Amino acid sequence: MTDALAPGSVIGILGGGQLGRMLAQAGARLGFDIHIFDTAANGPAARVAARSWAAPWADDGAVQTFAAKCDVLTFEFENIPASALAAAESAAPVRPGRKSLELTQDRLIEKRFIREAGCSTVDFAEVNCIDDLEAAAAELGRPAILKTRRFGYDGKGQAVIREDTDLSGAWAAIGEQPAILEAFAPFSRELSVVAARAENGEMAIYPLAENSHSGGILRVSRAPAIVSKDIETRAIEIARAIGDGLDHIGVFAVELFDVAGELIINEIAPRVHNTGHWTMDACTCSQFENHIRAVAGWPLGATRPHSACEMTNLIGDDVAPWHALASESDACLHLYGKREARPGRKMGHINRLSKLSG
Ligand code: AMP
Repeated sequence: MTDALAPGSVIGILGGGQLGRMLAQAGARLGFDIHIFDTAANGPAARVAARSWAAPWADDGAVQTFAAKCDVLTFEFENIPASALAAAESAAPVRPGRKSLELTQDRLIEKRFIREAGCSTVDFAEVNCIDDLEAAAAELGRPAILKTRRFGYDGKGQAVIREDTDLSGAWAAIGEQPAILEAFAPFSRELSVVAARAENGEMAIYPLAENSHSGGILRVSRAPAIVSKDIETRAIEIARAIGDGLDHIGVFAVELFDVAGELIINEIAPRVHNTGHWTMDACTCSQFENHIRAVAGWPLGATRPHSACEMTNLIGDDVAPWHALASESDACLHLYGKREARPGRKMGHINRLSKLSG
């Protein structure tokens, strides 16, 4: 696909959560019809889309029928099963491509790729059995973090190995699945860089965000992060190395640890990212619009911020005072239309804007 898709074309999104919803809203604004494929009917994205389809990922025929109605396909989460991806690819181009998914679905493959791309990771070791875990813990020291290679998100599939942690308990806690043990990064802060890459390799890179997590879940992102020129330059180099290495088309995010001024990559998300939600209200063109632009072959939009922003996730009952949140000035409230506020569930976010400093 080298020509730009005309408005009125159909963009299909695999996955129907809040990221799909915000992609659908951005795509609709540019005149596209957005179709959603999800395993559940009436999810956050389906309710704002032109058309939606609900079927299991294992139903290759349904994925293919959906894809055949679309001019281009994209995805809002990276754990798309290989068979569904193959079914989708047989009917329409998928942007970003297979390489972005395959290199980021598995933490071990991802970390090797990051190092080959000339970037840093924490020290790590492959763990396939309890003996591997014992050897890895002896080599990397404690604390360390045991993570399943696949299907982990928001801190799930992880166990912290402290001085007094029983290793067989930790191995059982992650379900005795193929894993990696990571050395603990003594970071002073967590940062992330979000960027869009076009098919011709052109990139639009947003300023860094500084992120705080608790319980493995992102709580707050502040952007643009206050960083030295060196860190800013290094983050841009990292975004280029990763984007080019993946041959990525669309938005991706790189989560970083700042360890005494050195940027160490925690992980790559081959999609729009929670730490880029601030761009919706503080930048000329949001991450969602830039993703749609990239997959549709349009020129990328400006990533320049016109405001500073503090993005706060509304998790579980945080959303209950929606009325008070809606009455704040200089704040933009985004609610995802989820019917039930379960603990740990991302229900929405609020972007609080302020003047850019400097
Ligand atoms: P992840 O699911 O890998 O993004 O991890 C979720 C959060 O756990 C990160 O944002 C960090 O706050 C923390 N974390 C993960 N890996 C490490 C590590 N190797 N060293 C220190 N903290 C970590």
